[in-house]
This record gives sequence, structure tokens and C-alpha cells, in this order.
Amino acid sequence: MAIGVFDIFKIGIGPSSSHTVGPMRAARMFARTLLAEASGADIARVVVELYGSLGATGKGHGTDTAVMLGLAGHDPEIVDVSLVESMLAEMRDQQTLVLLGAQPIHFNETSDILFLPSETLPFHPNGMHCVAYGHNGVALLERSYYSVGGGFVVQGDIDGKPGAVPPALPDMAELPRPFRSGEDLLRLCEEYSCSIADLMRTNEAHWRPEEETIAGLQRIWETMQACVERGCQTAGVLPGGFNVRRRAPELLGRLEARGGHDGADPLTIMDYVNLYALAVNEENAAGGRVVTAPTNGAAGIIPAVLHYYWHFIEGASSRGVEDFLLTAAAIGILYKENASISGAEVGCQGEVGVACSMAAGALCAVLGGTPEQVENAAEIGMEHHLGLTCDPVGGLVQIPCIERNALAAVKAINAARMALHGDGTHNVSLDQVIKTMRETGADMLSKYKETSQGGLAVNIVEC
Ligand code: SF4
Repeated sequence: MAIGVFDIFKIGIGPSSSHTVGPMRAARMFARTLLAEASGADIARVVVELYGSLGATGKGHGTDTAVMLGLAGHDPEIVDVSLVESMLAEMRDQQTLVLLGAQPIHFNETSDILFLPSETLPFHPNGMHCVAYGHNGVALLERSYYSVGGGFVVQGDIDGKPGAVPPALPDMAELPRPFRSGEDLLRLCEEYSCSIADLMRTNEAHWRPEEETIAGLQRIWETMQACVERGCQTAGVLPGGFNVRRRAPELLGRLEARGGHDGADPLTIMDYVNLYALAVNEENAAGGRVVTAPTNGAAGIIPAVLHYYWHFIEGASSRGVEDFLLTAAAIGILYKENASISGAEVGCQGEVGVACSMAAGALCAVLGGTPEQVENAAEIGMEHHLGLTCDPVGGLVQIPCIERNALAAVKAINAARMALHGDGTHNVSLDQVIKTMRETGADMLSKYKETSQGGLAVNIVEC
């Protein structure tokens, strides 16, 4: 299946693309199929089983509430995040869930959403199984789904038996400039004497007119800006019990007191990059509106580097923002198609590492880098994240995730600058580092893959 820029960048809600956005979309898909195939009056109960990583860290990642919202028909892209708490409270108080906003059923969160951390479905660690029962207790419909990272959902077998492997995805689109590797990207850029962003523009035209692509990219950028703005204004403590303080407003206040963007300290720019990333990831951890880029856990890196471009690079333009997002998406597609962007599958190298690689290549491009330099920057961005584990404390997307985004954003800028100081020739290719990331992820123990059973997660206790 060919994927494009709006598969890589999706507007959603926090805190997790694989554990919140994906399950919400899957639950909505199930409710739609159910109401299409069964009479509403026959449905007595819906039970959702969460396997593997969804079962292990689903509580902290809001998988249960995402499932409830999805069954009720809400879409992560447009759900009003300010109403989520009251909608959930109503469902809990009344023990009633209105499927797709149309068919009320009795719903008890404790008995109808089951966390099964020690069991996994074979295709992917983020499996879920949904069953609808009639009033006589007989199953009306069963479906299994896999949330494979970045909000992508793959449906399991048609019969719904847990454990079946999804059918191979057909190649849905023959794109004008198809690429499967970094090598393909470089060859196509040379053949058509164009940039990576232009290759992406040509491919995106397969799905929609160019003005719609531009409008969509602008919407992604506006959503990122609004997220940074909200994050910079919202103080307090993040939910989840670890009393993690939101730091962005305080940092902004300190920077402004020192003269803002024009302050005398030359490393103020780095403080601002940290600020943008903290703002986004604190919003994400609070369940706010974010752009999945390419995942929610790593949602701060690309906006932070893009804000750096916008505020600190002379001559920054809307066209530059488009080029940035298109180049980043091309790099993200390589990871999605050749490795993984799921922390549950390959650890944090697949989330923060990939976002850093995407941001590094994209920044290099808008700073005037050649395709070879862009490929080099993207490679550097991943090479120094290889082996990075996923060990979220308390199963929350807070520690180490929030700070890790700030660090990776700074690293992406450094990678872009290192590549720009070279001529594009280098020893390790992007394709080789992607392959290495995939193999390293396969060798990583599952306790380091979004299960909160290893690393920081077992050494930090709730206070
Ligand atoms: S540690 Fe990394 S992969 Fe794991 S939840 Fe945090 S950001 Fe995502």
C-alpha cells in the first residue's frame, strides 16, 4: 500500500499514536461494521480485549478511554478535546455507551475492556480483539485489529479470531515516482533534476490536486503552531500520578525576561528549540490536540525544528514549510515501509530516532542541502539513536519521552549542520542505518519495547 504525506502527519489527540489514536480508530471501525451488519436492537454488549503492549501500558496511554470514544463514534482528528473528560464521565456515570452516537448499550468499563499484558497476538505487539454479543450471549461480530504505530491500523482476519495474521496489503496506488529506499530517492532526484520535496509533490498529485495538498500541509503547520502556543500557556501538573510539572510556560517566561529571541546568550536558540518540544510533548501527555509526527510520543521533534526554521532562519517561507514537511514525510515513509515506527516493535529508536532523522533531513533540505546531503543528515539523525529503548515510567508518555524530544530536536539541527558542512558523501547510507535499526529492534528484549517492564520504568516509583 503506498503511503503519503498525510499518512505520516495526522492530526490526532495525545498521548500516544499507537495506544490512543490507533485503538480509537480501530474501535470506531468496529462500531461501524457492527451497526452495518447487525440490528442495533440485537446488540447487548461489546467487549474489547487489549493484548501485549496495549495491555501492558494501555492504562497510562489512555487506550481504554480511546476505545470508549472510538466506539461512541469519535474521530481522533476532530474530537473536541475540551469535552473528552465530560463525555467519559457521562459514560461512566450512566454505564451506557452510545455506539456511533446512535445505539445505546450497557457498558461497564471494568468488565468490558480487558487488559491482557501477558498475551500477544502473533502479527504485532499492539493487538486488540473486539466482540459484540447479543442478548442471548451469542457473539454477533468479532474482529481483531493491530495498531502498528503512528496511528496506522491494520485489520486482522475477517472471522475475527484472535491470532490470525492480517492479509497482505495490496499495492493500492502506482505512484508516478515510486521509491522504496534512500537509494531510489537519490536516483529519482538525479533523473528528474529535482528535490525530494518535488518528488513528493508529484506523488501526492496522484491522490489530490496540488492546492489541496498545500492546504493540508498548511493545516498541519497551523496545528503544530497552535499546539506549541497552548503548551507554552498551560501550566500545572500532568495527569497520571507522577506529578510531572509542565515546564514550558516557566521556560518561556524566563527566556522572555532575558530578551526573548534577541537575548545576548547565543545558546538562547537552543533554549527555544527545547521550549517548542516541551510545549508539544506536554500537550500530548495531557491528551491535547497534536500532530502525529510520525508518532505521538515523538510528536515534539518535527514541530520544534520547524519552529526553529520559522523563527531563526532568515528567509523562512511558507514554501519552505511545505518543503520541510514533504521531505520529512519522504524519509518517514522509508522507515515505515522498511522498518517500523512503533515503539512496541523496535523501541524508541523507531519513534524519537525516526522523528530526529526526518527533522534532520528536512531541515538540511530547506537550508539548501542537496539530496545527498539530505540523505546524509537523515542517516546521522538515526545512527546516533540506534538501540534506544522504550521504557516509559508508569506507562505514561512523560518520562523520558518529553525531555527526549527536546534533546532529539537539538540533535536533528546538529545533524543537518554536519551534513551541510560535508559534500554528501559518507560511509553509512540511510538504507543501511534503517536496516540496522530494524534488526536492532528485532533483537531488543520485549521489556524495552513499550511494556514498562524494564529500564527507567522499573527504577522510578510513583511518589
Ligand atoms: S520512550 Fe520513546 S517510544 Fe517509548 S513511549 Fe516514550 S517516546 Fe514513545
